[in-house]
Amino acid sequence: MITASIVTCRVCQSVYERRTVWISSRDSGEKRCDVCGALMEIWNGPKLPIYQLVKRGKRES
Ligand SMILES: [Zn+2]
Repeated sequence: MITASIVTCRVCQSVYERRTVWISSRDSGEKRCDVCGALMEIWNGPKLPIYQLVKRGKRES
């Protein structure tokens, strides 16, 4: 069973659904906000986060 959680970008308030999937090998990477580019998560291991944009926030610059 896959559970999703809701994550909000702390910079632009974009809303994402976040799931994690297990992969067979270790992987590392980072997820940046699609809207403002803020770093949201760094992972390193067999658990890969999948983000799906639900609602775009306001980009402030
Ligand atoms: Zn953002």
